[in-house]
Amino acid sequence: MKELTGTCLFCGQTQLVNAETQKQADQLATENCSCDNKLKKVRQCSDNIHTITGTEAQDIGMEPVTEKVVEQLQELGKLVVYGYIEAASIKLTDSTITLKAIKGATSVSRKKVLSAKLEA
Ligand SMILES: [Zn+2]
Repeated sequence: MKELTGTCLFCGQTQLVNAETQKQADQLATENCSCDNKLKKVRQCSDNIHTITGTEAQDIGMEPVTEKVVEQLQELGKLVVYGYIEAASIKLTDSTITLKAIKGATSVSRKKVLSAKLEA
């Protein structure tokens, strides 16, 4: 570990952090930055994921998922907000959840496909 100047990926503010590499320093500076932008987006994305997967999901006809899955989805959401990945899609037993960066925002969608097939 050494003291490096990390730069926030969103607002460009710099701060001294203890890190091994410049990439890690920039990541830490971004995660710890005081700018409203990133914090707001991560919180909104996490709230949206919770709404679409938690107990409120029953209101839209979907099953709530376990808290562990919600947490992992929120971690993936952070990666999208930070720009490390563009999108992530997770297949659940009854539906598919997709997190995607769209024009500076992070969309959270959950699709449940119902189909029927009859043969004679
Ligand atoms: Zn910042």
